Amino acid sequence: MSANAYPLGLRLAGLRVVVVGGGAVATRRVPALLDAGADVLLVAPELTPALRAHVDAERLRWVPRRFLPEDLDGAWLVHVAIDDPAAAAEISAAAAERRIFCVRADDRNAATAWTPAVTRYGPVTVAVLGGGDPRRAVSVRDAIRALLQTRANPLLTESGPQASPRTPPGGPGQVFLVGAGPGDPELITLKGWRLLSEADVVVADRLVPGLLLDELRTGVELVDASKIPYGPSRTQEEINRILVDRASAGATVVRLKGGDPYVFGRGGEELLACAAAGVPVTVVPGVTSSIAAPAAAGIPVTHRSVAHEFTVVSGHVAPDSPHSLVRWDALAALRGTLVILMGLKNLPSITQALLTHGRPAGTPAAVVQEATTGGQRVVHSTLGEVADAVTAAGLRPPAVVVIGDVVEALRVG
Ligand code: SAH
Repeated sequence: MSANAYPLGLRLAGLRVVVVGGGAVATRRVPALLDAGADVLLVAPELTPALRAHVDAERLRWVPRRFLPEDLDGAWLVHVAIDDPAAAAEISAAAAERRIFCVRADDRNAATAWTPAVTRYGPVTVAVLGGGDPRRAVSVRDAIRALLQTRANPLLTESGPQASPRTPPGGPGQVFLVGAGPGDPELITLKGWRLLSEADVVVADRLVPGLLLDELRTGVELVDASKIPYGPSRTQEEINRILVDRASAGATVVRLKGGDPYVFGRGGEELLACAAAGVPVTVVPGVTSSIAAPAAAGIPVTHRSVAHEFTVVSGHVAPDSPHSLVRWDALAALRGTLVILMGLKNLPSITQALLTHGRPAGTPAAVVQEATTGGQRVVHSTLGEVADAVTAAGLRPPAVVVIGDVVEALRVG
């Protein structure tokens, strides 16, 4: 086999693909076959737990024995994922007889098809064949992936082969409500990052990591939502209007929000505003500070035999306010972890309400300011003293308050 390989994109939806072998190689190959919609038949006496999970979820069919030639009847492609050369040769022969392409993990020279090194970027799939050297394929693939993840992404520059996989010109635009994560720019999701680099318009919150905005491509319209000069409700109306206007004009709009869009982020209101205007909206979840801030301070929100629950609550309305929607008395009765967002200003009355309703004063408490950023600060205390400790330490928002035994669960010494 010295001739060059001929590249193809197989459209396998509903077509039978046989995978022989139930070990590490099969475990790595099966997900992409399932993603392509293939009708996967797995032939192997034993399976890894990950393959077993696919079987249990009925994503594929498993024949729990060694390979027989008739397993290939009706198949379009076979993957040999075993390392027994004699058995593999037998599968190759059965495949050739039936004119079925055969991928061989054990011997690429005996294969009639090679699997490329692959990277995906939204709808684009890049597949690299290394001319007989799989390591070369992987290093070229890695270089392409790195390129796609930079500002120089050829899919995003206006002079690129295709301006971008964005909304086609003239068609209706769309809005993506994207969670930016808690602060560290690397804590955005891959999907969120890709959409951000493809956006025509980015509407960003105050809490969004600045470094993410630094990487936007040139020509993108950046709207700083924290600078819109109205009161809280008018500002939200104005943001909704910008999202709808730009998308209706055909733009791909990313509404970038701190943490997760649906955790105290008014993402729901923005979704409804877009939906009412007939603008397609997609939500891209983010890493929420309610879990990430404690984690960054070494606090797991749950821990075996310490806490089997965590409750996330907003502290922006004082417990004695007629506008409060929170049953602080009920929260005081819980044993588990309590995570309070936007709670610094009202912390004295919040802790008082919890104490009054019976949560012990000695319950461990911590406050994490500017979690996952260079400005992160952590104060450890107890429910009875944390409000004073925050004042004494001069902590400022944004900060997350964590109350519960988990605060001390991983502390040693
Ligand atoms: N949607 C966001 C929360 C928005 S409410 C999320 O899922 O994280 C804003 C509150 O989030 C702040 O008042 C603070 O309590 C918390 N917060 C957000 N980022 C934070 C950070 N990096 N460190 C500490 N608290 C943070």
